[in-house]
Amino acid sequence: MENINQEGKSSIGVVGLSVMGANLASNIADHGWKVSVYNRSREKTDLLVSQYAGKNMSAQFSLENFVQSLESPRKILLMVQAGNVVDEVIASILPFVSNGDVIIDGGNSFFGDTIRREQELREKGIIFVGMGVSGGEEGARRGPSIMPGGSLEAWKNIKPIVESIAAKDFHGKPCVTHVGSDGAGHYVKMVHNGIEYIDMQLIAETYWIMKMGLGMKNDEIAAQFEKWNKGRLDSYLIEITAKILLAKYADGTFVVDSILDSAGSKGTGKWTSEEILEFGTVGFGFVSAVIARFASAQKKERIKLSKEFPKNSPSKMAIGMEQLENALYVSKILAYAQGYELLNAASKKYAWNLNFQEISRIWEGGCIIRASFLKELEEAFAKDNNGSILTSSVFKKSIENGTSDLRLIASAAIMNSLPVPAFLSGIAYFDSMTNEFLCANMIQAQRDFFGAHTFQKEVDGDFFHHDWD
Ligand code: NAP
Repeated sequence: MENINQEGKSSIGVVGLSVMGANLASNIADHGWKVSVYNRSREKTDLLVSQYAGKNMSAQFSLENFVQSLESPRKILLMVQAGNVVDEVIASILPFVSNGDVIIDGGNSFFGDTIRREQELREKGIIFVGMGVSGGEEGARRGPSIMPGGSLEAWKNIKPIVESIAAKDFHGKPCVTHVGSDGAGHYVKMVHNGIEYIDMQLIAETYWIMKMGLGMKNDEIAAQFEKWNKGRLDSYLIEITAKILLAKYADGTFVVDSILDSAGSKGTGKWTSEEILEFGTVGFGFVSAVIARFASAQKKERIKLSKEFPKNSPSKMAIGMEQLENALYVSKILAYAQGYELLNAASKKYAWNLNFQEISRIWEGGCIIRASFLKELEEAFAKDNNGSILTSSVFKKSIENGTSDLRLIASAAIMNSLPVPAFLSGIAYFDSMTNEFLCANMIQAQRDFFGAHTFQKEVDGDFFHHDWD
């Protein structure tokens, strides 16, 4: 493919050449687009240019020259640290760009900032795209899942390039779509990351049950994950878990056993939980997965308290691999159900008109949560885009079969003092949403008792206050 224009200018420029920017720039150049690259500090630019073996890459060392090296309308992809840095970098580029040029923020920016930036730049005649990119280093280099927001005009400008560099879905189509206006792309990326948090926590809890509750060795657990990876649980995260469990140091000891059990986080999981609280959707899983990381990070406190409350070693749990697989699979379904509920609420509030079938499709390849399960999700939303995963005929049987095993696994873990917040959040979500009656009549009575908050007697009914004394 030959996309270089006659003037020899670049089709696109990338600012920020750390892991993501450098790999995306190489990916773009590999696909025949001439790409200009710029980084605040020169070393990263020199390193990339020295390492990139192909053609089509033009290193620039001043922002002005960088912008001038691009064909019009200019397309500038920012891959810099999320937060204020994005505003700073946009401000430093603005003096050199012209009406109709396109600035794309491919970092993990907060969607609210993206909505603000899109409006501010639109008023200045600049087209702004907030674009979620998932897949880490390897995805950026070989094909990520790409979630661009912004106007249709913006989409028209970036479509040929992003379609050429994206991963492929199960039908061979690029894992990219125009997600919706302004902040929609970054919102969908945020929920993707929230689901990633739950997925990772569920897999970690499954590993822990096998290790602590069933006494399995690392290589036995790896073999089990490898086996599952050939079935309906087939996914990137299950695949790397098996590999992680087998990795050894030169002295023959397992790498995973040497890693401190204290997990970090960068913010997208927390933002998803904040959105759950903002909209009031039933997102037990998102909040639990973030708090599970917080609990893990309290290592010193846990060391102290574990001495205060010593635990018996877990007795061998009476559970089989099939039950564990069922519990893990249904928990995954329930996690996505919570995620799409949140997307549905945001789509209505911001008038994004999100296409859930398309969102499921573009997560089929390239991204961290890619899994063969996404095919079923795509199928479910093809039948009914606004439908609920809980009522979809595609998942009915798996939910019915899986939840009884999920109860068994979760209760066995509780009886053995093994914390499994992600499994528990799945069953809490399912039972909360599928019971006609919950205990909230008592909550309403208490609220009315001490605060005269009133209560209803039927759905959409009138409000009453009772004179409790
Ligand atoms: P990063 O560590 O988030 O950011 C480093 C880049 O930002 C460097 O190029 C750095 O330039 C630049 N930068 C920082 N402060 C700057 C400033 N004040 N002015 C100009 N440039 C500045 O890089 P990354 O890991 O490649 O991620 C880039 C974006 O993609 C982030 O938003 C990240 O959250 C998102 N993301 C990352 C991953 C991943 O797996 N790493 C996956 C998906 C999305 P210098 O070299 O001069 O310091």
